[in-house]
Amino acid sequence: MAIDLEALYFDLHEHPELSFAEHRTAAVVAERMTDLGLEVFAGIAGTGVAAVLRNGDGPTVLLRADMDGLPVHEETGLPYASEARGVDPMGRDVPVMHACGHDVHMTCLVGAVERLVDEKAQWRGTLIAVFQPSEERDGGAKAMVEDGLYDKVPTPDVVLGQHVSGFPAGTVVVHSGPAMAAVNAITARMFGQGGHGSRPETAIDPVVMAAAAVMRLQTVVSREISPKQTAVVSVGAIHAGTKSNIIPAEATLEISLRSFDPDVRAKLLASVERIIRAESDASAAPRPPEFTYGEDYPVTFNDPDATERTAGALRAALGDAHVGDPGQITGSEDVGILASAVGAPLVYWFLGGFAPELFTGPLGTIEPTLPANHSPLFAPLPQPTIDTGVTALVAAAREWLGAPGGA
Ligand code: ZN
Ligand code: ZN
Repeated sequence: MAIDLEALYFDLHEHPELSFAEHRTAAVVAERMTDLGLEVFAGIAGTGVAAVLRNGDGPTVLLRADMDGLPVHEETGLPYASEARGVDPMGRDVPVMHACGHDVHMTCLVGAVERLVDEKAQWRGTLIAVFQPSEERDGGAKAMVEDGLYDKVPTPDVVLGQHVSGFPAGTVVVHSGPAMAAVNAITARMFGQGGHGSRPETAIDPVVMAAAAVMRLQTVVSREISPKQTAVVSVGAIHAGTKSNIIPAEATLEISLRSFDPDVRAKLLASVERIIRAESDASAAPRPPEFTYGEDYPVTFNDPDATERTAGALRAALGDAHVGDPGQITGSEDVGILASAVGAPLVYWFLGGFAPELFTGPLGTIEPTLPANHSPLFAPLPQPTIDTGVTALVAAAREWLGAPGGA
């Protein structure tokens, strides 16, 4: 009996789990893969799952979905909205939501494997389905590779994957070459001297220090990077203090940097450190700031030849009018590590997830009024998004897999 993909999607959406804590999620997808007759390797890098279907001599294709949710409180009001909670790496109890659509990716991958199992007589080769933990924090792709993914599964000839995003449902968009930005995450602790809020002269205020740093960081892109280059500096979190009449002893900034060029990336890292040190000095901080480095994902590079070949298959399956090019995207991904670790080409596309009538520009243009990935209002349409995602994965995989008789 065919898998009810919408029911699977609603179940995954209602039960999101944080990065590297995808225990229930991994069990659900592993069970589906076992039911479909694949050889399943679970527990790779903790919660990662890889499933293999050997179907005679032919090329090896790896399809990848990521599994983690985000510490976001869902505000979509959907009947299948998440009320889940989790514990973040700092030990805090936080709400959890599939605010990046990784539930869509898993659902589509299960559906694609099911269809490729049904169509087994029509192709030859080896299919690998990878359900990756922790795309959102500290690099689940690298962790799976380091935990021996490629000792368990064969080396792929191509790595394929997709990400649901703010494009019309029923479409996919793909960009050849450098497609998504590199990301570096930095946590900076700035130290002051705690004291009473009524006697600031006895304290060194880390809140003012951090606030000044946040404002000055806005000049890195506007004043230090060429307008011809793409770069982003975002301070996504700022933590300090407990109460209005206490000057705290320290403040923490969590910063995300995006770039496409290695020199720009080096410049961003150096400038951010320099400014935070200088603002610390400007406040006469009792000790210098401390930096720790989190996600460090390379540019997501879509191999041009492989992208041309795959885009042709996507156009044939979905129709020319339903395949576009979004240009470079400043979001980031670690999917490329699954490909670069074995020297395989990568093709990674975006799957449209929103009502087509909401779009005013040509296909590939992001509609600024739509809730972005990571928004508490991010709510892709289950259909035709899931059907399109399944069709895209199957078409792309079949393009690379062999035909019976070795043709
Ligand atoms: Zn995300
Ligand atoms: Zn994502």
